[in-house]
Amino acid sequence: MALDSNGGIKGLIMQLQHFSVNDGDGIRTVIFMAGCPLRCKWCCNPESWSLEINEYVDEMSISEIIDEVDRHIIFYRYSNGGITYSGGEPTYQLNFLENMVDIFYNRGIHQSIETSGYFIWEDVYGVFEKMDFIFVDIKHFNSRRHKQLTGVHNHSILDNIRAMGRLGKDIVIRIPLIKDINDDEGNIADTAEFVYRNIPNGKIELLPYHSLGNYKYKSLGLDEYEYSFQTPDEEDIQRVKEIINSYDVQTIEYR
Ligand code: SF4
Repeated sequence: MALDSNGGIKGLIMQLQHFSVNDGDGIRTVIFMAGCPLRCKWCCNPESWSLEINEYVDEMSISEIIDEVDRHIIFYRYSNGGITYSGGEPTYQLNFLENMVDIFYNRGIHQSIETSGYFIWEDVYGVFEKMDFIFVDIKHFNSRRHKQLTGVHNHSILDNIRAMGRLGKDIVIRIPLIKDINDDEGNIADTAEFVYRNIPNGKIELLPYHSLGNYKYKSLGLDEYEYSFQTPDEEDIQRVKEIINSYDVQTIEYR
């Protein structure tokens, strides 16, 4: 297949994960892109934080990614799958992302994005316009708590989610659910009401906290960022789902 003229542009990639069924419909290739402006205390991908090559992150050109995608295209076609951009925060390498998205858009491949929602909307609008499916997090509805937990306020994130809602795309709001941190009734009710008001047919997916990425902090020399949290149990999850459903918002599970 002929390479696109912008196929030589390089980006920093943590991993291409093929045959994923957790990050959107059908069988997908997930492109985990490095770089993130947030510092969530529960982050399981701290290797994504900086735009530097490290033991988990390496450079890849768009043409190398196209080659990988082409080898799996048949699985996307038969399963209604496609590509999911993830991270890190995929919009952090905006030029690289824009070029990839344009190429796959022109090839008619289904595209999804998993995003923190933290960016300047006008800058990323062209990317979101070409997405078929959007996953975006609301990690905490209270901005002061959001800042304590992630390093940034959530005002622009909520504004950006409102703007996404106006695009008329399929949108799933993800809550990384952490016991005694963001699973209280007030926070869940505020989040569910926001989704109900701002996202037509919006759904919520709960991602219960896990500590699987904790071992990475030491090997990256980031020990001071190591925190431990509690995983919500089945009862907590059920209680949270009931609150969400009481706002006429559906819960959904891709994992
Ligand atoms: S937004 Fe995601 S990648 Fe970035 S710090 Fe938070 S959990 Fe980690």
